[in-house]
Amino acid sequence: MESTMKIYYSPDYVVDIGEHTFPTRKWHLVAQGLQAENMGELVDPGLPPREYLESVHTQDWVSKCLAGRLSLEEETQMELRWSKRLSVAHQKHVMGTILAARDALAQGLGLHAGGGAHHAFADHGEGFCMFNDLAAALRLLRAQERIELGAVVDLDVHQGNGTAAILKEDELSHFSIHQDDIYPFALRPGLRRMGVAEPETLRQVGRLDVAVPRGMADAKYLKMLSGQLDAFLERQKPEVVLYQAGVDVWEGDAVGGLGLTRAGIEARDREVFSACFNRGIGVAVTLGGGYAERLEDCAELHRRTIQLAIEEHERRWPN
Ligand SMILES: [Zn+2]
Repeated sequence: MESTMKIYYSPDYVVDIGEHTFPTRKWHLVAQGLQAENMGELVDPGLPPREYLESVHTQDWVSKCLAGRLSLEEETQMELRWSKRLSVAHQKHVMGTILAARDALAQGLGLHAGGGAHHAFADHGEGFCMFNDLAAALRLLRAQERIELGAVVDLDVHQGNGTAAILKEDELSHFSIHQDDIYPFALRPGLRRMGVAEPETLRQVGRLDVAVPRGMADAKYLKMLSGQLDAFLERQKPEVVLYQAGVDVWEGDAVGGLGLTRAGIEARDREVFSACFNRGIGVAVTLGGGYAERLEDCAELHRRTIQLAIEEHERRWPN
């Protein structure tokens, strides 16, 4: 489906990080899929000013990440080896989500073919995440008085522990549905062997934090999502929603175990878009996690989320 919407993406997202569970080539494949379908105009978000990073991160963490002064422990905890290019990529992911959030406020939908780094804390990185683009975008919109209340809706299979920790003191809201027996509630076996400490678990720190069991599958998941999301939006009335649309909920995922089908993920995405658009709440899409064995499967699931966002926006957003 053709569209002229801006989709934030940078070729700089692709960084050589060696053999890795979360290969950066995924972002390139998503962008390629979007271009093949003439879906949107890819726009490089550029680098954020340093103060945007410091809106959620400590000066110390930002300095370390910009200058490459991370300790081996910090790199191990983040599960990424620092490089200048890696730092640039992660900074641009922050800017992409900030710009998508502004678009969501202005026109009801903002699109980022990247982002969703929900495991980054104020003072350290975890789970392949260096900077928390979701928390940064919400903080900035509020600091610039564009909104009073926004929300992160995080449906990645993992709990957004970094986002929850950062937004804990804010009025800003964090809605999350995630699997209850994987990271951050349980450490990956490889990390445990390397002597990394058990993470500080952050259950129930979001305004609505729902941990669900392995193997939940489509029907139960979708019923629960619909009820919980409606209740959340009615109660909180956010002016904008940043959607972390991780596809590691897929049945073919090597890490997540919720077992949603492709059709189930489509129904999930439509539920989020229609619930928000019907209430006049703009949505910024970020992509988050996905660990299918074939990277192409993962990229296609992500591309599909963006396509559904555009379709639902055209159908439901009041012009
Ligand atoms: Zn994930």
